[in-house]
Amino acid sequence: MPPYMFAELERKVSQMREEGIDVISLGIGDPDMPTFEPVVETMRQVVGVNDDQKYPTNRGRKEYREAVADFYSSRFGVEIDVEEGVIPALGAKEAIYNLCFAFLDPGDVALASDPGYPVYTGGPILAGARPVPLPLNPDRGFAPDLESVSDDDARAARILFLNYPNNPTGAVVPEGLFPQVVDFARENEILVIHDNAYSETTFDGYVAPSFLATPGAMEVGIEVFSLSKGYNMTGWRVGAVVGNPEAISTYWRLKTNVDSGLFEAIQLAGVTALRECGGMVEEMNSIYTRRRDLVVETLAAIGVEVERPRGTIYVWAPVPDGETSVSFAEKVLDEASVVISPGSMYGESGEGWFRISLTTPDERLEEALERMREHLA
Ligand SMILES: *Cc1c(COP(=O)(O)O)cnc(C)c1O
Repeated sequence: MPPYMFAELERKVSQMREEGIDVISLGIGDPDMPTFEPVVETMRQVVGVNDDQKYPTNRGRKEYREAVADFYSSRFGVEIDVEEGVIPALGAKEAIYNLCFAFLDPGDVALASDPGYPVYTGGPILAGARPVPLPLNPDRGFAPDLESVSDDDARAARILFLNYPNNPTGAVVPEGLFPQVVDFARENEILVIHDNAYSETTFDGYVAPSFLATPGAMEVGIEVFSLSKGYNMTGWRVGAVVGNPEAISTYWRLKTNVDSGLFEAIQLAGVTALRECGGMVEEMNSIYTRRRDLVVETLAAIGVEVERPRGTIYVWAPVPDGETSVSFAEKVLDEASVVISPGSMYGESGEGWFRISLTTPDERLEEALERMREHLA
C-alpha cells in the first residue's frame, strides 16, 4: 500500500486540540443530521424479533430486494430482477473492496477514477492487481478521457470504477459519458462498477440518473448503491449491488466466503428508508443547498472561484497560486483552525485542489467560514 501522506496534518490537528484550540473540521464526509425517524422506529420494532436476529442469508430478504428493485424502477426507470439482479451490501465500501477480489487476479488492471474514493486503488492493490488512474478532466466537466488509456492497460483491465455525482469533485455525469463508457467496456471486455453513493443528494432541481439506465449498461455493468449519505445512515452499513446478473452472482459467491450478510433488522429499516423517506431526503438537500451557497460565496470572498456543485456533500476548489494541496490545508489549519481535505488525498489528479464537506451543522460551518474569510481574505 502507498504510504499515508497526511500523518503530519493529523498530528497537527490533534496537537492543536490538546492545546485547547477549537479546531473545526470540514474534512470528513459524514452527514451530521440524524437518521430519519421512521427508519429508527422500524429498527426499534424489529430489533427484538427473534427470527430477525439470526444469520441472514447473503441473498438478502425478499422485502429488501423488492424495495431496492421498486426504488430502481420508480426512481431511475431501471428494471432489476428481484431474484438475480440485487444483493444487499454492508455499505458501498464493502462492496467495492469485495468486487476487487471477485474480479481481479494478480497482474490484472483496475481503471480507477482519479481523483476518487480511495478504495478504487486500495482494493485492487490488496487483491494483487494494479490500479491505473483515469484522470478526471476539469475542462470536460470531470469526465475521464477513455481514449488516453493505453492499449496494454485496456487489454489488462478487468474493471472500471466510475462515480457520479462524484466524490470529491461534486461533478454530475457529463452529457454523453455513460454511453461512451458502455462502448469502451464492450470493446475491451471490462466490467463497469458505477459507485452510486450520491444519486439522492442533488440540488437546484438536478436529478441524477443511474448508470444502468444507459442502453447496454446492464450487459457490461453493475451499480453499487448506498443508503449512507442520502439517508443519513453511514453507521448502519447498508447498501446494495444491482445490475448484471452474472456479475451479481460472482460477487455473491465471493461474499458467501467472507461475511454472513446484512442484519435483517437493518434490511427492514432500509426498506422503510427506500419506501417512505423521499420527502425527508429533499428537505435535507435544501439544507445542503444553503450550506453549499455559503461555502461558494465565502470562497469567492477569499479569491477562490468555483461553480456551485449540483450534487454530493462537497465543494471542490483549486488552491490559490503558489500553494500545493497540503501547504494550503496547513495554512488554513494554522491561520483559521479549520480542517479542509487536501485534494491529493484522492489521487494524483487531486493535487492543486482542496475539498470542503457540507456535513457540519450550520452554526459551526458559519463560524469556520467566518474564520476563513477573516484570516485568508
Ligand atoms: C461515502 C462513500 C462510499 C462509502 O459508502 P458506504 O455505503 O458508507 O460504505 C463509497 N463511495 C463513495 C464515492 C463515497 O463517497
